[in-house]
Amino acid sequence: MSLLPRWVHRSWAFALGYFWMPCPLCGESFGGHEWRNVRKPDGRYWSSSIRVRGRVTYANGQGICPGCTVAGLGGREYSLAELDKRYMDAVGSRYDLIK
Ligand SMILES: [Zn+2]
Repeated sequence: MSLLPRWVHRSWAFALGYFWMPCPLCGESFGGHEWRNVRKPDGRYWSSSIRVRGRVTYANGQGICPGCTVAGLGGREYSLAELDKRYMDAVGSRYDLIK
């Protein structure tokens, strides 16, 4: 993730018309201006998209946040059940921290 605070990214996304949405894997909100494949040290790229089994979109793909991209979680297919579990586990653990 970038070193800028998240609210700066959110403002930038809204000001320039980029999407601002939660990552389907971790629930962290990110902007369309941050959505890109990330180059690995070997020159290849981590994919910033996933495919969702059973769902057809215009590109049959869904964007994920830069953090999940760099973690190598893109470029594969997830079932809706797997996405739900990942999302709820990630979001739930954040709420646990707040308690
Ligand atoms: Zn994510």
